[in-house]
Amino acid sequence: MAKCNICGNKLKELFLEKVKGGVVYKPGSSKQYMVCFECQKKFSSKEEIIERL
Ligand SMILES: [Zn+2]
Repeated sequence: MAKCNICGNKLKELFLEKVKGGVVYKPGSSKQYMVCFECQKKFSSKEEIIERL
């Protein structure tokens, strides 16, 4: 089960399979980080999100 890399919330609702987040890439890295929509809302810029990963 995918979890948000910032707050640890699960990103998929069972049964509904609704994804509640998106993928963030760190610059210079191909590693994927999952970040939920709530955390994406909390931080206004991608840079702020990346700092917290
Ligand atoms: Zn989150």
